Amino acid sequence: MKGRLFGTTGVRKVYGREFDLDMALDLGKAFGTYLNEGTVLLARDVRITGKMVEDTFAAGLMSTGISVVRAGVIPTPTLAFMTMHGRYKAGVMITASHNPPEYTGIKFWTASSMGYTPHEEREIEKIYQSREFKRATWDRLGSDSSIDNAVSEHIREILARTKVETIKSKEFKVVVDPGNGAACVLTPYLVRELGCKVITINGQLDGHFPGRKSEPDKESLVDLIRVVRDTGADLGVAHDGDSDRVVFVTENGEVIRSDRTIALISMDMLKRQPGGVIVTTVDSSKVLDEIVEKHGGKVIRTPVGDIQVAFKIRENNAIFGGEACGVFIFPDFHLAPEPFLATCKILELMAKTGRGFRDLMREIPIYPLKKTKIQCDNERKQEVMETLQEKLPEAIGDVVEIITVDGLGVSLKNGWLLVRPSGTEPVIRITCEARSEQDVEHIIERAKEIVEGTIATR
Ligand code: MG
Repeated sequence: MKGRLFGTTGVRKVYGREFDLDMALDLGKAFGTYLNEGTVLLARDVRITGKMVEDTFAAGLMSTGISVVRAGVIPTPTLAFMTMHGRYKAGVMITASHNPPEYTGIKFWTASSMGYTPHEEREIEKIYQSREFKRATWDRLGSDSSIDNAVSEHIREILARTKVETIKSKEFKVVVDPGNGAACVLTPYLVRELGCKVITINGQLDGHFPGRKSEPDKESLVDLIRVVRDTGADLGVAHDGDSDRVVFVTENGEVIRSDRTIALISMDMLKRQPGGVIVTTVDSSKVLDEIVEKHGGKVIRTPVGDIQVAFKIRENNAIFGGEACGVFIFPDFHLAPEPFLATCKILELMAKTGRGFRDLMREIPIYPLKKTKIQCDNERKQEVMETLQEKLPEAIGDVVEIITVDGLGVSLKNGWLLVRPSGTEPVIRITCEARSEQDVEHIIERAKEIVEGTIATR
């Protein structure tokens, strides 16, 4: 089990094939050596392997003299928030986010609620590879304790940033779909605090993810769409496995792409903070730039990954940021994704304006966007991408600009295209946006042919 440990965000690997308990133990030791002193807040998502990996990682940490405080099964944002709020030296989440159930992973957070940067991760990996671990004597080992108020503290702080009474007065009906993931312990309770009638589906914690695929998208949210429609609900809310993402569904069952939701929330924020900077990743729709600029703000693009967004937010003193996959970051609160406050902000907008979610979303135009992924072994990704850099722009034609902030971005006369290797799965992803369905279909099919052709040629 060799190769690089860290992917786009933290460690994410298939248990038993790419990751085992020896690695969890050594990673615990490596991280303890890196920190040298202090206390770490430790939590996990709902995965079957979670408890075992957590215990092993904790043992590694304690052997270096680092104390461990466990917060149990909670959403990743709750762990990140509590790491800052409780002034821990660092936070560690045992999670593989939205990946299938056989995956496990470990994600690191700083005391300022930022994810560890690739540079910091490399430092930990260096210690891991060197196997030069700090060893505490028996009387200097770290202690092991737990807290049970992480979720209630988090909910309290979210409500303090929400116009609770305004939302309460509307008595909204909301369907919550945590997808059997960590949000089961938070979102239904939060929404109830807002005076809403809450209907929960896939609401029991289960690491087999029996209800649906953990990644929330149009295909995996068919049940949510149906229940929202059947019950006449005002809003549908869906999370991924570790609940750092949220996707919203309108009252008529339309799944809203989150770059459009980011545009909606940005519009409202820019009214109060004129000229503000909004940060998003390279794969967000151009509609976000158009809306933000129209309202006097500015968009800055980053490589894919919530840590990249958080980093740029801090660097540019931005007022808000997020990713099209369902990440929302409110820097006034903390620098980790905050899907729960995003939910409150949507309900607040609905309550304030007296308009339905569908109606609010009408202000943000939809440009057709398509995504596809193509299998490609991790070892070949780099070589394939290098060939594509040379070959793809010419092959696709009508190129206006080539952007390489992350992967290969190509701005075309009638749309744009992004080809990038996944940091977590053996696939190359293609995203394409254009002004018409016909154009988007044509561009993505052509790009797919070129990528598949490149993978097939050795
Ligand atoms: Mg996630």
